[in-house]
Amino acid sequence: MNSYGWSRTTAYAVGAAVLLATATGCAGGGDSGAASAALTAPGGTADPARSAAPSRPQGAPTPPPSAPPAPAAGDAAAWAKWNLTPLPPAPPAPADKPVKLRRTGPVPVFSEVRTDDKVVFLTIDDGAEKDPAFVEMLTDLKVPVSMFLTRDIVKDDYGYFKRLQALGNHVHNHTSGHAQLSRAAPEKQKAEVCDAQDALTRQYGTPPLLFRPPYGDGAHTPALNAVVRQCGPGAIVLWRESMQIHDMQYQAADRKLRPGDIVLAHFRGPKDLKGETMTQMFGELLARIQEQGFAVARLEDYIEAPAA
Ligand SMILES: [Zn+2]
Repeated sequence: MNSYGWSRTTAYAVGAAVLLATATGCAGGGDSGAASAALTAPGGTADPARSAAPSRPQGAPTPPPSAPPAPAAGDAAAWAKWNLTPLPPAPPAPADKPVKLRRTGPVPVFSEVRTDDKVVFLTIDDGAEKDPAFVEMLTDLKVPVSMFLTRDIVKDDYGYFKRLQALGNHVHNHTSGHAQLSRAAPEKQKAEVCDAQDALTRQYGTPPLLFRPPYGDGAHTPALNAVVRQCGPGAIVLWRESMQIHDMQYQAADRKLRPGDIVLAHFRGPKDLKGETMTQMFGELLARIQEQGFAVARLEDYIEAPAA
């Protein structure tokens, strides 16, 4: 692990990054071809945490009040309801944030966060599918996600994402009209980023901290970087893995998650997922993460916003 949160991305050949990003980002459904593993979790029906809890003997000192639950610490029964094996609980948010954003200069571009914690971060793009069952799923499982919303895709129902925001999930900027930004004129680039920033700030009460260009396109160009800085977001966030229907596409040749990886998924439904629902897709994503022994942490817990 190196000393820069985003240097793995920076070292990555820009042309290849754009190609990969274009191949995997936001371009409709696509099956990775991986076989679909059943969501049924082995032995996932009981609640061992509850049944194994010993009763406290009389006269024993009162335990200190417990800390607020860490992300992804939903109880075993909740996971069993979705036929999933619980993920390990995420460690506490680091006090010294590995990513520190600044008010001036180029905004950083990164696809992963420097950390030794065995965690990955889940990001969900666009906002086309607005499945109430997904709100129920995140309410049950307490898995944190970061939402990169496109104004024109969510504006028919901003409220859906307020329900996800109310669970502690943050809203970020994914343009106003999902344009391919490297081909857009400077004024168009600015409208795509700034107009979305304004609309999302009005709707969700807080300015999006992060920006993701559609398809990852233009992420490494100085022109787009300057527009993002001007419009307000403090960083451009790409990804290391992209969830398809049953499994992720990995940029790493060994097809393994690494600590701090950012995973891309989409708000998609049966039309784009060959009949699978948003919650089935997301359940399979969690199963693939669980198989590799990772927890899901909240991306914003690892990022220090610029000083006021
Ligand atoms: Zn997109």
